[in-house]
Amino acid sequence: MIKDTKQPLLLVVSAPSGAGKTTLCDRLIREFDNVVYSVSCTTRAPREGEVHGKSYFFLSDAEFDDRKAAGEFIEFAKVHDNWYGTLKQTLLDALSAGKDVLMDIDVQGAGLIRNYLAHCDEGDPLKQSYVDAFIAPPSIQDLQLRLWGRGKDEKDVIERRLQRAEAEMEHWHEYQYLIVNDRIDESYDILRAVFVSEHHRIR
Ligand code: 5GP
Repeated sequence: MIKDTKQPLLLVVSAPSGAGKTTLCDRLIREFDNVVYSVSCTTRAPREGEVHGKSYFFLSDAEFDDRKAAGEFIEFAKVHDNWYGTLKQTLLDALSAGKDVLMDIDVQGAGLIRNYLAHCDEGDPLKQSYVDAFIAPPSIQDLQLRLWGRGKDEKDVIERRLQRAEAEMEHWHEYQYLIVNDRIDESYDILRAVFVSEHHRIR
């Protein structure tokens, strides 16, 4: 009996800000109908135009705490005074509906997910579908030029981003794939190749 190779993927992508992650991920979503972004939970208030269940699941502090205590999150973090986290059930529901789930998450979040999966059985559906990739700029100098070039941030914001980027880039070796984003079209070809090949990997 031949195994079904169409098993959906849980694709986790991290990158320092300015490395081109959003462009690459959006392109994957546009090309493949089956790929969806994972919807996280947050305790922050919705911004104009944000829709519950689409942008985020907006939870009260008490709801977030209860779900945290019940072990429902695969990872969670406090960012600028608000809590953010991804529910295991959100991922499981999407995967069991046959969707590939794209998670755009920082290196700490990706680390928490890997830790969680390390303690799961081999047959766990999240573990079975898991793939991760780190997108890096060719160099810190290059990232510096890109952040300055965007011309939309203050000097101290850029300095903080660069410091954070340097710290994040030290984690590239924890990932299964590294995409050094020099030319966006070539980087997309690599991300696409990872995505297509991983669907056919015997797990
Ligand atoms: P924002 O409030 O601007 O939508 O997001 C603020 C920050 O929270 C961003 O850096 C974003 O990456 C992070 N974030 C959003 N969702 C999650 C999540 O599910 N888990 C973690 N760890 N961080 C998240």
